[in-house]
Amino acid sequence: MKIYNTLTKKKEEFIPLEPNQVKMYVCGPTVYDYIHIGNARPMVIFDTVRRYFEYKGYQVNYVSNFTDIDDKLIQKAKQEQTEVSLIAQHFILTCKQDMESLNIRPATVHPLATNEMDSIIEMITMLIQKGYAYPKEGTVYFRTKKFSHYGSLSHKNLEDLQSGNRTLLVSGVAQKEDPLDFVLWKPKKEGEPFWSSTWSEGRPGWHIECSAMCKKYLGDQIDIHAGGEDLIFPHHENEIAQSEALSETQFARYWMHNAFLNINHKKMAKSEKNFFTVREIAEKYSGNILRFFLLNAHYRSPLNFSEDLMLSAKNALERLITGIEKLSTLEAQNLSPDLQEKERNDQKQLHSLIQKYEQAMEDDFNTADAIAAIFECIKLSNSTANQNSSLAYVKECKTCIVQLCSVLGIDTERANEILDEEIEELIAQRTQARKEKNFTLADDIRKQLEKMDIILEDTRNGVVWKRL
Ligand code: AMP
Ligand code: ZN
Repeated sequence: MKIYNTLTKKKEEFIPLEPNQVKMYVCGPTVYDYIHIGNARPMVIFDTVRRYFEYKGYQVNYVSNFTDIDDKLIQKAKQEQTEVSLIAQHFILTCKQDMESLNIRPATVHPLATNEMDSIIEMITMLIQKGYAYPKEGTVYFRTKKFSHYGSLSHKNLEDLQSGNRTLLVSGVAQKEDPLDFVLWKPKKEGEPFWSSTWSEGRPGWHIECSAMCKKYLGDQIDIHAGGEDLIFPHHENEIAQSEALSETQFARYWMHNAFLNINHKKMAKSEKNFFTVREIAEKYSGNILRFFLLNAHYRSPLNFSEDLMLSAKNALERLITGIEKLSTLEAQNLSPDLQEKERNDQKQLHSLIQKYEQAMEDDFNTADAIAAIFECIKLSNSTANQNSSLAYVKECKTCIVQLCSVLGIDTERANEILDEEIEELIAQRTQARKEKNFTLADDIRKQLEKMDIILEDTRNGVVWKRL
Protein backbone atom coordinates (compact mmCIF):
# COMPACT_ATOMS: atom_id res chain seq x y z
CA MET A 1 0.00 0.00 0.00
CA LYS A 2 1.43 3.37 -0.99
CA ILE A 3 0.90 6.59 0.92
CA TYR A 4 2.06 10.07 -0.08
CA ASN A 5 4.16 11.31 2.81
CA THR A 6 4.34 15.11 3.20
CA LEU A 7 7.61 14.62 5.06
CA THR A 8 9.45 13.09 2.08
CA LYS A 9 7.17 14.48 -0.65
CA LYS A 10 7.01 10.95 -2.06
CA LYS A 11 4.60 8.07 -2.26
CA GLU A 12 6.02 5.44 0.06
CA GLU A 13 5.20 1.82 0.77
CA PHE A 14 3.28 1.64 4.06
CA ILE A 15 5.17 -0.40 6.64
CA PRO A 16 3.46 -0.44 10.03
CA LEU A 17 5.45 -0.07 13.25
CA GLU A 18 3.85 -3.28 14.49
CA PRO A 19 2.53 -5.97 12.15
CA ASN A 20 -1.19 -5.58 11.34
CA GLN A 21 -1.59 -2.52 13.56
CA VAL A 22 -2.06 1.12 12.62
CA LYS A 23 -1.69 3.94 15.11
CA MET A 24 -3.25 7.02 13.67
CA TYR A 25 -3.86 10.56 14.98
CA VAL A 26 -6.10 13.05 13.17
CA CYS A 27 -6.30 16.67 14.33
CA GLY A 28 -9.92 17.40 15.09
CA PRO A 29 -11.98 20.58 14.92
CA THR A 30 -12.09 23.55 17.26
CA VAL A 31 -15.56 23.32 18.71
CA TYR A 32 -16.87 26.89 18.75
CA ASP A 33 -19.44 26.52 15.96
CA TYR A 34 -21.11 23.96 13.69
CA ILE A 35 -18.62 22.20 11.42
CA HIS A 36 -18.64 23.27 7.78
CA ILE A 37 -18.26 20.94 4.82
CA GLY A 38 -14.57 21.89 4.54
CA ASN A 39 -14.01 20.54 8.06
CA ALA A 40 -15.91 17.44 6.98
CA ARG A 41 -13.38 16.70 4.23
CA PRO A 42 -10.54 15.42 6.49
CA MET A 43 -13.08 13.64 8.68
CA VAL A 44 -14.53 11.70 5.75
CA ILE A 45 -11.16 11.06 4.09
CA PHE A 46 -9.38 9.73 7.15
CA ASP A 47 -12.40 7.71 8.26
CA THR A 48 -12.18 6.08 4.80
CA VAL A 49 -8.44 5.47 5.25
CA ARG A 50 -9.23 3.79 8.57
CA ARG A 51 -11.99 1.68 7.01
CA TYR A 52 -9.69 0.55 4.21
CA PHE A 53 -6.98 -0.51 6.65
CA GLU A 54 -9.59 -2.49 8.57
CA TYR A 55 -10.82 -4.10 5.35
CA LYS A 56 -7.22 -5.22 4.77
CA GLY A 57 -7.15 -6.82 8.22
CA TYR A 58 -5.31 -4.14 10.21
CA GLN A 59 -6.37 -3.19 13.69
CA VAL A 60 -6.59 0.60 13.76
CA ASN A 61 -6.16 2.69 16.88
CA TYR A 62 -7.67 5.96 15.70
CA VAL A 63 -7.34 9.01 17.92
CA SER A 64 -8.92 12.34 17.03
CA ASN A 65 -9.17 15.25 19.46
CA PHE A 66 -11.62 18.08 19.90
CA THR A 67 -9.92 21.42 20.58
CA ASP A 68 -12.14 22.63 23.40
CA ILE A 69 -10.19 25.62 24.66
CA ASP A 70 -8.81 28.46 22.53
CA ASP A 71 -9.33 32.15 21.73
CA LYS A 72 -12.31 31.54 19.43
CA LEU A 73 -14.12 29.51 22.09
CA ILE A 74 -13.44 32.19 24.70
CA GLN A 75 -14.72 34.90 22.38
CA LYS A 76 -17.87 32.91 21.55
CA ALA A 77 -18.58 32.33 25.25
CA LYS A 78 -18.26 36.08 25.86
CA GLN A 79 -20.65 36.87 23.01
CA GLU A 80 -23.18 34.35 24.26
CA GLN A 81 -22.59 35.31 27.91
CA THR A 82 -21.98 31.76 28.90
CA GLU A 83 -19.18 29.38 29.93
CA VAL A 84 -16.53 28.15 27.50
CA SER A 85 -17.19 24.57 28.64
CA LEU A 86 -20.88 24.86 27.71
CA ILE A 87 -20.04 26.14 24.24
CA ALA A 88 -17.58 23.26 23.81
CA GLN A 89 -20.04 20.63 25.08
CA HIS A 90 -22.75 21.88 22.75
CA PHE A 91 -20.58 21.90 19.61
CA ILE A 92 -18.96 18.55 20.42
CA LEU A 93 -22.45 17.11 20.54
CA THR A 94 -23.51 18.73 17.26
CA CYS A 95 -20.21 17.71 15.63
CA LYS A 96 -20.79 14.09 16.66
CA GLN A 97 -24.31 14.26 15.18
CA ASP A 98 -22.93 15.68 11.93
CA MET A 99 -20.27 12.97 11.86
CA GLU A 100 -22.95 10.35 12.26
CA SER A 101 -24.94 11.83 9.40
CA LEU A 102 -21.81 11.43 7.25
CA ASN A 103 -21.36 7.86 8.45
CA ILE A 104 -18.03 8.78 10.09
CA ARG A 105 -17.32 6.25 12.79
CA PRO A 106 -16.41 7.54 16.26
CA ALA A 107 -12.66 7.46 16.91
CA THR A 108 -11.21 4.85 19.27
CA VAL A 109 -10.68 7.85 21.57
CA HIS A 110 -11.80 11.48 21.20
CA PRO A 111 -9.64 13.24 23.80
CA LEU A 112 -10.39 16.80 24.94
CA ALA A 113 -7.54 19.18 25.75
CA THR A 114 -9.25 20.34 28.95
CA ASN A 115 -9.31 16.76 30.29
CA GLU A 116 -5.60 16.27 29.61
CA MET A 117 -4.03 19.15 31.55
CA ASP A 118 -1.84 16.87 33.69
CA SER A 119 -0.22 15.27 30.65
CA ILE A 120 0.19 18.63 28.93
CA ILE A 121 1.80 20.26 31.98
CA GLU A 122 4.04 17.23 32.45
CA MET A 123 5.23 17.43 28.85
CA ILE A 124 6.02 21.15 29.12
CA THR A 125 7.89 20.51 32.40
CA MET A 126 10.02 17.83 30.73
CA LEU A 127 10.76 20.10 27.77
CA ILE A 128 11.99 22.78 30.20
CA GLN A 129 14.13 20.20 32.03
CA LYS A 130 15.72 19.16 28.73
CA GLY A 131 16.48 22.77 27.80
CA TYR A 132 14.00 22.83 24.90
CA ALA A 133 11.67 25.29 26.60
CA TYR A 134 11.90 28.25 28.99
CA PRO A 135 9.45 30.24 31.09
CA LYS A 136 9.37 34.04 30.84
CA GLU A 137 6.97 36.05 32.98
CA GLY A 138 4.39 33.28 33.19
CA THR A 139 4.63 32.28 29.50
CA VAL A 140 6.53 29.18 28.43
CA TYR A 141 8.21 29.18 25.00
CA PHE A 142 9.69 26.39 22.90
CA ARG A 143 13.32 27.05 21.94
CA THR A 144 12.82 26.42 18.22
CA LYS A 145 16.43 26.73 17.02
CA LYS A 146 17.60 24.12 19.50
CA PHE A 147 15.60 21.55 17.56
CA SER A 148 17.99 20.85 14.73
CA HIS A 149 15.61 19.66 12.03
CA TYR A 150 12.89 22.25 12.52
CA GLY A 151 11.19 22.88 9.18
CA SER A 152 11.60 19.34 7.84
CA LEU A 153 7.87 18.72 7.36
CA SER A 154 7.01 22.05 5.75
CA HIS A 155 10.32 22.05 3.87
CA LYS A 156 11.13 25.53 5.14
CA ASN A 157 14.60 26.54 6.23
CA LEU A 158 15.34 28.41 9.43
CA GLU A 159 16.89 31.46 7.73
CA ASP A 160 13.81 32.07 5.57
CA LEU A 161 11.56 31.62 8.56
CA GLN A 162 13.71 34.01 10.57
CA SER A 163 13.53 36.80 7.98
CA GLY A 164 9.77 36.28 7.67
CA ASN A 165 9.33 36.63 11.40
CA ARG A 166 11.33 39.76 12.15
CA THR A 167 8.15 41.73 12.71
CA LEU A 168 7.33 39.54 15.71
CA LEU A 169 10.18 41.07 17.69
CA VAL A 170 9.00 44.57 16.89
CA SER A 171 5.38 43.84 17.72
CA GLY A 172 5.84 43.44 21.46
CA VAL A 173 6.84 39.78 21.82
CA ALA A 174 10.27 40.97 22.92
CA GLN A 175 10.36 38.63 25.89
CA LYS A 176 11.04 35.68 23.60
CA GLU A 177 14.69 34.71 23.20
CA ASP A 178 14.13 34.31 19.49
CA PRO A 179 11.31 35.32 17.15
CA LEU A 180 10.84 31.70 16.02
CA ASP A 181 10.11 30.46 19.54
CA PHE A 182 6.48 29.53 20.00
CA VAL A 183 4.15 29.37 23.00
CA LEU A 184 3.62 26.21 25.04
CA TRP A 185 1.79 27.88 27.93
CA LYS A 186 0.27 31.32 28.31
CA PRO A 187 -1.06 33.20 31.34
CA LYS A 188 -4.80 33.86 31.55
CA LYS A 189 -6.33 37.22 30.83
CA GLU A 190 -9.01 38.56 33.14
CA GLY A 191 -12.13 36.37 33.07
CA GLU A 192 -10.59 33.57 30.99
CA PRO A 193 -10.66 29.91 32.06
CA PHE A 194 -7.36 28.82 33.58
CA TRP A 195 -5.44 25.89 35.02
CA SER A 196 -2.76 26.18 37.71
CA SER A 197 0.87 25.56 36.91
CA THR A 198 4.22 26.59 38.38
CA TRP A 199 4.59 29.18 35.59
CA SER A 200 1.23 30.92 35.88
CA GLU A 201 -2.49 30.40 36.05
CA GLY A 202 -3.15 29.94 32.37
CA ARG A 203 -3.69 27.53 29.53
CA PRO A 204 -1.67 25.57 26.99
CA GLY A 205 -0.88 26.51 23.42
CA TRP A 206 -2.69 24.54 20.70
CA HIS A 207 0.36 22.63 19.41
CA ILE A 208 1.39 21.09 22.73
CA GLU A 209 -2.15 19.79 23.28
CA CYS A 210 -1.93 17.50 20.25
CA SER A 211 1.62 16.33 21.10
CA ALA A 212 0.55 15.46 24.65
CA MET A 213 -2.69 13.69 23.65
CA CYS A 214 -0.95 11.75 20.91
CA LYS A 215 1.77 10.61 23.35
CA LYS A 216 -0.77 9.63 26.00
CA TYR A 217 -3.09 7.61 23.77
CA LEU A 218 -0.72 6.25 21.12
CA GLY A 219 2.82 6.51 22.51
CA ASP A 220 6.00 8.24 21.32
CA GLN A 221 5.85 6.82 17.81
CA ILE A 222 2.83 6.55 15.58
CA ASP A 223 2.24 5.35 12.04
CA ILE A 224 0.12 8.13 10.57
CA HIS A 225 -0.56 11.72 11.58
CA ALA A 226 -3.14 13.53 9.51
CA GLY A 227 -5.12 16.72 8.97
CA GLY A 228 -5.85 19.46 6.46
CA GLU A 229 -2.91 20.97 4.58
CA ASP A 230 -3.22 24.26 6.47
CA LEU A 231 -1.98 22.37 9.53
CA ILE A 232 1.42 21.51 8.01
CA PHE A 233 2.88 24.78 9.22
CA PRO A 234 3.11 25.73 11.98
CA HIS A 235 0.88 23.22 13.80
CA HIS A 236 2.38 19.90 12.66
CA GLU A 237 5.89 21.30 12.39
CA ASN A 238 5.64 22.38 16.02
CA GLU A 239 4.14 19.06 17.09
CA ILE A 240 7.17 17.28 15.59
CA ALA A 241 9.58 19.63 17.39
CA GLN A 242 7.89 19.17 20.79
CA SER A 243 7.40 15.42 20.54
CA GLU A 244 10.76 14.51 19.03
CA ALA A 245 12.72 16.86 21.32
CA LEU A 246 11.45 14.72 24.21
CA SER A 247 11.33 11.23 22.77
CA GLU A 248 14.41 11.46 20.54
CA THR A 249 12.66 9.20 18.09
CA GLN A 250 10.65 9.83 14.93
CA PHE A 251 7.18 10.99 15.96
CA ALA A 252 5.03 9.99 12.96
CA ARG A 253 6.23 7.82 10.09
CA TYR A 254 3.70 9.08 7.53
CA TRP A 255 2.17 12.56 7.40
CA MET A 256 -1.03 12.78 5.36
CA HIS A 257 -2.67 16.08 4.43
CA ASN A 258 -5.87 16.70 2.52
CA ALA A 259 -6.24 19.61 0.11
CA PHE A 260 -8.95 22.19 0.67
CA LEU A 261 -12.57 22.16 -0.16
CA ASN A 262 -12.99 25.44 -2.02
CA ILE A 263 -15.85 27.60 -3.03
CA ASN A 264 -15.31 29.73 -6.14
CA HIS A 265 -11.75 28.38 -5.96
CA LYS A 266 -11.14 29.94 -2.56
CA LYS A 267 -10.70 27.94 0.66
CA MET A 268 -13.97 27.45 2.50
CA ALA A 269 -13.39 28.97 5.93
CA LYS A 270 -15.34 30.47 8.81
CA SER A 271 -13.21 33.61 8.62
CA GLU A 272 -14.08 34.11 4.93
CA LYS A 273 -17.79 33.66 5.67
CA ASN A 274 -18.00 31.57 2.47
CA PHE A 275 -18.96 28.32 4.14
CA PHE A 276 -21.91 25.94 4.31
CA THR A 277 -22.35 23.92 7.46
CA VAL A 278 -22.91 20.19 7.20
CA ARG A 279 -26.37 20.89 8.65
CA GLU A 280 -27.29 23.39 5.96
CA ILE A 281 -26.28 20.98 3.21
CA ALA A 282 -28.19 18.17 4.92
CA GLU A 283 -31.45 20.04 4.34
CA LYS A 284 -31.07 19.36 0.63
CA TYR A 285 -28.70 16.43 0.32
CA SER A 286 -28.29 13.43 2.58
CA GLY A 287 -25.00 12.91 4.43
CA ASN A 288 -24.42 9.96 2.14
CA ILE A 289 -24.50 12.22 -0.93
CA LEU A 290 -22.12 14.72 0.69
CA ARG A 291 -19.74 11.90 1.59
CA PHE A 292 -19.94 10.51 -1.92
CA PHE A 293 -19.25 13.98 -3.35
CA LEU A 294 -16.18 14.41 -1.10
CA LEU A 295 -14.78 11.01 -2.09
CA ASN A 296 -15.21 11.62 -5.80
CA ALA A 297 -11.97 13.60 -5.86
CA HIS A 298 -8.54 12.46 -4.76
CA TYR A 299 -7.88 13.79 -1.25
CA ARG A 300 -4.75 15.69 -2.30
CA SER A 301 -6.56 17.58 -5.06
CA PRO A 302 -8.45 20.77 -4.28
CA LEU A 303 -12.18 20.24 -4.62
CA ASN A 304 -14.51 23.03 -5.64
CA PHE A 305 -17.96 22.90 -4.12
CA SER A 306 -20.89 23.60 -6.42
CA GLU A 307 -24.57 22.80 -6.54
CA ASP A 308 -24.06 21.16 -9.97
CA LEU A 309 -21.44 18.76 -8.62
CA MET A 310 -23.67 17.90 -5.68
CA LEU A 311 -26.50 17.16 -8.06
CA SER A 312 -24.36 14.90 -10.21
CA ALA A 313 -23.09 13.16 -7.04
CA LYS A 314 -26.71 12.64 -6.08
CA ASN A 315 -27.60 11.20 -9.49
CA ALA A 316 -24.57 8.94 -9.59
CA LEU A 317 -25.34 7.58 -6.12
CA GLU A 318 -28.88 7.00 -7.22
CA ARG A 319 -27.69 4.93 -10.21
CA LEU A 320 -25.55 2.90 -7.86
CA ILE A 321 -28.47 2.20 -5.55
CA THR A 322 -30.78 1.32 -8.42
CA GLY A 323 -28.19 -1.23 -9.56
CA ILE A 324 -28.09 -2.78 -6.09
CA GLU A 325 -31.89 -2.77 -5.90
CA LYS A 326 -32.08 -4.66 -9.15
CA LEU A 327 -29.85 -7.35 -7.62
CA SER A 328 -32.03 -7.48 -4.47
CA THR A 329 -35.13 -7.98 -6.61
CA LEU A 330 -33.43 -10.82 -8.48
CA GLU A 331 -32.26 -12.34 -5.20
CA ALA A 332 -35.87 -12.62 -4.04
CA GLN A 333 -36.83 -14.59 -7.15
CA ASN A 334 -36.64 -18.30 -7.58
CA LEU A 335 -33.20 -18.52 -9.16
CA SER A 336 -31.19 -21.71 -9.58
CA PRO A 337 -28.82 -21.88 -6.60
CA ASP A 338 -25.41 -22.81 -8.01
CA LEU A 339 -23.02 -20.86 -10.19
CA GLN A 340 -23.41 -21.83 -13.84
CA GLU A 341 -20.53 -22.61 -16.15
CA LYS A 342 -21.45 -19.70 -18.45
CA GLU A 343 -21.17 -17.30 -15.48
CA ARG A 344 -17.53 -18.10 -14.74
CA ASN A 345 -16.27 -15.43 -17.09
CA ASP A 346 -18.49 -12.72 -15.58
CA GLN A 347 -17.43 -13.80 -12.10
CA LYS A 348 -13.77 -13.50 -13.16
CA GLN A 349 -14.48 -10.01 -14.46
CA LEU A 350 -16.08 -9.12 -11.14
CA HIS A 351 -12.99 -10.33 -9.28
CA SER A 352 -10.71 -8.30 -11.50
CA LEU A 353 -12.82 -5.20 -10.77
CA ILE A 354 -12.40 -5.82 -7.04
CA GLN A 355 -8.67 -5.90 -7.70
CA LYS A 356 -8.91 -2.67 -9.66
CA TYR A 357 -10.69 -1.06 -6.72
CA GLU A 358 -8.01 -2.27 -4.30
CA GLN A 359 -5.22 -1.08 -6.58
CA ALA A 360 -6.81 2.38 -6.64
CA MET A 361 -7.12 2.48 -2.86
CA GLU A 362 -3.57 1.22 -2.44
CA ASP A 363 -2.27 3.96 -4.68
CA ASP A 364 -2.46 6.65 -1.98
CA PHE A 365 -6.20 6.15 -1.42
CA ASN A 366 -7.41 7.12 -4.86
CA THR A 367 -11.09 7.06 -3.95
CA ALA A 368 -12.09 8.61 -7.29
CA ASP A 369 -10.72 5.61 -9.20
CA ALA A 370 -12.10 3.23 -6.57
CA ILE A 371 -15.58 4.69 -7.16
CA ALA A 372 -15.07 4.29 -10.92
CA ALA A 373 -14.32 0.58 -10.31
CA ILE A 374 -17.57 0.25 -8.32
CA PHE A 375 -19.46 1.72 -11.27
CA GLU A 376 -17.85 -0.83 -13.54
CA CYS A 377 -19.18 -3.54 -11.20
CA ILE A 378 -22.65 -2.00 -11.53
CA LYS A 379 -22.34 -1.91 -15.30
CA LEU A 380 -21.27 -5.54 -15.30
CA SER A 381 -24.10 -6.68 -13.04
CA ASN A 382 -26.68 -4.60 -14.95
CA SER A 383 -25.69 -6.30 -18.17
CA THR A 384 -25.14 -9.84 -16.88
CA ALA A 385 -27.47 -10.51 -13.93
CA ASN A 386 -31.03 -11.42 -14.91
CA GLN A 387 -33.76 -14.03 -14.36
CA ASN A 388 -31.57 -16.69 -15.94
CA SER A 389 -28.67 -16.04 -13.56
CA SER A 390 -27.83 -18.25 -10.59
CA LEU A 391 -28.51 -17.06 -7.06
CA ALA A 392 -24.78 -17.56 -6.32
CA TYR A 393 -23.78 -15.08 -9.03
CA VAL A 394 -26.43 -12.48 -8.13
CA LYS A 395 -25.53 -12.72 -4.45
CA GLU A 396 -21.83 -12.38 -5.17
CA CYS A 397 -22.37 -9.28 -7.32
CA LYS A 398 -24.47 -7.68 -4.62
CA THR A 399 -22.23 -8.58 -1.68
CA CYS A 400 -19.21 -7.31 -3.53
CA ILE A 401 -20.75 -3.95 -4.52
CA VAL A 402 -22.25 -3.37 -1.07
CA GLN A 403 -18.93 -4.17 0.61
CA LEU A 404 -16.84 -1.95 -1.67
CA CYS A 405 -19.28 0.90 -0.97
CA SER A 406 -19.23 0.26 2.74
CA VAL A 407 -15.39 0.46 2.85
CA LEU A 408 -15.88 4.00 1.52
CA GLY A 409 -18.54 4.57 4.17
CA ILE A 410 -21.27 4.75 1.53
CA ASP A 411 -24.31 3.25 3.16
CA THR A 412 -26.27 1.80 0.27
CA GLU A 413 -29.36 0.97 2.32
CA ARG A 414 -29.55 4.25 4.16
CA ALA A 415 -29.18 6.28 0.95
CA ASN A 416 -32.17 4.59 -0.50
CA GLU A 417 -34.38 5.36 2.46
CA ILE A 418 -33.59 9.06 2.40
CA LEU A 419 -33.88 9.43 -1.31
CA ASP A 420 -37.33 7.79 -1.36
CA GLU A 421 -38.54 10.40 1.10
CA GLU A 422 -37.19 13.19 -1.04
CA ILE A 423 -38.83 11.79 -4.15
CA GLU A 424 -42.21 11.54 -2.41
CA GLU A 425 -41.81 15.12 -1.21
CA LEU A 426 -41.08 16.40 -4.72
CA ILE A 427 -44.04 14.47 -6.11
CA ALA A 428 -46.30 16.00 -3.46
CA GLN A 429 -45.08 19.47 -4.45
CA ARG A 430 -45.77 18.69 -8.12
CA THR A 431 -49.28 17.45 -7.35
CA GLN A 432 -49.96 20.64 -5.40
CA ALA A 433 -48.62 22.79 -8.25
CA ARG A 434 -50.92 21.00 -10.70
CA LYS A 435 -53.91 21.55 -8.41
CA GLU A 436 -53.07 25.24 -8.43
CA LYS A 437 -52.76 25.10 -12.23
CA ASN A 438 -49.10 26.14 -11.95
CA PHE A 439 -48.06 23.86 -14.80
CA THR A 440 -44.69 25.48 -15.32
CA LEU A 441 -43.64 24.60 -11.78
CA ALA A 442 -45.15 21.11 -12.11
CA ASP A 443 -43.18 20.58 -15.28
CA ASP A 444 -39.96 21.86 -13.68
CA ILE A 445 -40.35 19.37 -10.85
CA ARG A 446 -40.95 16.56 -13.30
CA LYS A 447 -37.76 17.54 -15.16
CA GLN A 448 -35.84 17.68 -11.89
CA LEU A 449 -37.04 14.17 -11.10
CA GLU A 450 -36.07 13.00 -14.57
CA LYS A 451 -32.56 14.28 -13.97
CA MET A 452 -32.52 12.05 -10.92
CA ASP A 453 -33.55 9.17 -13.22
CA ILE A 454 -37.06 9.06 -11.74
CA ILE A 455 -39.92 8.51 -14.15
CA LEU A 456 -43.46 9.60 -13.26
CA GLU A 457 -46.64 8.11 -14.53
CA ASP A 458 -49.93 9.86 -13.93
CA THR A 459 -52.55 7.16 -13.36
CA ARG A 460 -56.20 7.32 -12.32
CA ASN A 461 -55.11 6.40 -8.80
CA GLY A 462 -52.52 9.13 -8.58
CA VAL A 463 -48.86 9.41 -9.45
CA VAL A 464 -46.73 6.29 -9.70
CA TRP A 465 -42.97 6.61 -9.91
CA LYS A 466 -40.12 4.33 -10.77
CA ARG A 467 -36.36 4.49 -11.05
CA LEU A 468 -34.75 4.19 -14.46
P1 AMP B 1 -10.21 23.77 12.46
O1 AMP B 1 -11.45 23.61 13.25
O2 AMP B 1 -10.12 25.06 11.70
O3 AMP B 1 -8.97 23.48 13.29
O4 AMP B 1 -10.22 22.65 11.31
C1 AMP B 1 -10.40 21.28 11.55
C2 AMP B 1 -9.88 20.49 10.38
O5 AMP B 1 -10.55 20.89 9.16
C3 AMP B 1 -8.39 20.71 10.09
O6 AMP B 1 -7.80 19.47 9.72
C4 AMP B 1 -8.37 21.68 8.92
O7 AMP B 1 -7.20 21.55 8.16
C5 AMP B 1 -9.59 21.20 8.15
N1 AMP B 1 -10.15 22.22 7.25
C6 AMP B 1 -10.60 23.45 7.57
N2 AMP B 1 -11.08 24.09 6.46
C7 AMP B 1 -10.95 23.22 5.42
C8 AMP B 1 -11.29 23.29 4.03
N3 AMP B 1 -11.87 24.34 3.47
N4 AMP B 1 -11.01 22.20 3.27
C9 AMP B 1 -10.45 21.09 3.80
N5 AMP B 1 -10.10 20.96 5.10
C10 AMP B 1 -10.35 22.02 5.91
ZN1 ZN C 1 -3.34 18.87 16.10
